[in-house]
Amino acid sequence: MNKHFVDPKTMSISSFIADIELLHKMTSEHFNLDSPRMANGITETFASLLDKECLSQESSSISDVYADLARYTQGILKWNHPGAMINVTPPPSVPSTAAASYLSLFNPNGAQDMSSGHLLVTELAVVKFLAELAGFDPKRAGGVFTFGGKSTNLHAVKHGIQRIEPEAAKHGVSGDIVIVSSKQGHPCHSEVCGWLGIGETKSLRVGTDSRGVVDLGLLEATLDSALSKGLKIATIFANGGTTIQMAIDPISQIAALRNQMVEKYELPYTPRVHVDSVIGWIFLFFKTYDFVKNDLDLHPRVLEKIARQVTRIRDISYADSFGVDFHKTGFCSYTSSVYIAASRGEIYQQGGIEDPDHPIGGGGKFATPYDEVRFGNHSPFQYTLELSRALSGPVEAYVNLKLFGITGYQKLVGELFDATEHFRQQLAATGRFEMVSDDDSDGFATLFVAHPTVGFRSFFDLGEDDRASFEELGLYNYRFYLYCFERQELGRCRVAFDYSSGYHSFRSGSKIGVQKAYPVSPFFTRIEAVLMADELTALLHEFDGQQDTFVLRTSPHQPRPMIFR
Ligand SMILES: *Cc1c(COP(=O)(O)O)cnc(C)c1O
Repeated sequence: MNKHFVDPKTMSISSFIADIELLHKMTSEHFNLDSPRMANGITETFASLLDKECLSQESSSISDVYADLARYTQGILKWNHPGAMINVTPPPSVPSTAAASYLSLFNPNGAQDMSSGHLLVTELAVVKFLAELAGFDPKRAGGVFTFGGKSTNLHAVKHGIQRIEPEAAKHGVSGDIVIVSSKQGHPCHSEVCGWLGIGETKSLRVGTDSRGVVDLGLLEATLDSALSKGLKIATIFANGGTTIQMAIDPISQIAALRNQMVEKYELPYTPRVHVDSVIGWIFLFFKTYDFVKNDLDLHPRVLEKIARQVTRIRDISYADSFGVDFHKTGFCSYTSSVYIAASRGEIYQQGGIEDPDHPIGGGGKFATPYDEVRFGNHSPFQYTLELSRALSGPVEAYVNLKLFGITGYQKLVGELFDATEHFRQQLAATGRFEMVSDDDSDGFATLFVAHPTVGFRSFFDLGEDDRASFEELGLYNYRFYLYCFERQELGRCRVAFDYSSGYHSFRSGSKIGVQKAYPVSPFFTRIEAVLMADELTALLHEFDGQQDTFVLRTSPHQPRPMIFR
């Protein structure tokens, strides 16, 4: 068995590299280079695959095991392919994944520095970089990597609760606690209330405008209503970039409203303001971009969009905490999320005590003062949700932040926006595609519909006053989605976009599914963008010829159901 471990006498990694190459070679059978998806020849259900999976008595060879593993890579989306536009999943950079895979040979545990050496500095450094980017005092701020954006929001609620009930960790939550988010806030803002035992129904959702931004008047009314009923507000969520629309709420005004409420109701605690910026944090890199010089030669519309987002996200400095997903807009692999708090005491003490050096948790554990943290005395497990902690997240984030730098991230993100703008314009110029997110989204995603004919009435007009034609548009788009879906499977469509319910709501109450393109690959360049728009246009013309006869025969997986109401 020893041959399967790094020999301590040589520390040679030749077998590690050979194993990676072997797996790569076996996987390469399914690459399907032109397509954003790996080839998929498996038709059995998971249950029948499991019937064939048996734990063997005997050992197996690496190549037998890897052959099984390589088989299961069929159907994977290749996020580096310029046509992969299903969701906000980036291709991770090679140096970050190489570092994390290599260092995992040492099996470093982020619970405590005693075994993981100085690698925990990567976590502290990433926290420092992000605190500085956000305008927090890096010596007062703190942060922890945790298991996902969802967990950053879980921390936000937990640390809101402990402001109200500093002893909650010991004695439990006594009740009457709510949190406030907007209707566009991520569903997990409510889910974490379930996990924390205060209950999902305790998450109050405030309405937004058509751009997805919280309505401050409604927010004030919600806070007033809750506080006058004697409820306690643990956390107010501000969106720092919603998943599709990339809406960023007015953070400083939300913080001011919170302060006003503390005075008005003479609250003995301060409700936490947390920014769910797991995607939108990326705009912080543009704080220093020279929008006049425009070194990246970004399209004027892109400049406007990004400049608007920077003005909004800048206000993150008014928040008590925020979250960052490096596995979304940071080009790292899963999971690489970090929760940053303006006051590290709130992370270390698990209670409402402000003094960062106060004994914590009633167990006499001390948080080490910032200047005294050194190898041998740094033990995050004392205050983190996780006990054993993977260091792959901090390592990957550290590598990418240093590798790309601020300019590199500006380039990666700026050029994605820029290519997307060309994609939109090329599609719109045909007269057959209508961009439905152009006026109310400053994000990566493009929502669009295909029109059955040039001159067909607009999505927005039909949604209000012509239900029959709106339904026709809905059906046409669903069938076009199925058509492209089948073409993907047949290797005839390089663009994997998604079918989505979108976010538009009409006074009439009508809703149809729309196409969603969420480009994430650095290989999605201006040139590719135009080529892909042309391909989609050609497919639409092809579809016109077969519209009446087309039936879906094969697809990469079960298609989404038609949306019409
Ligand atoms: C993705 C997302 C989450 C959940 O994050 P995970 O990393 O998937 O756990 C929360 N909020 C927003 C806005 C998101 O986009």
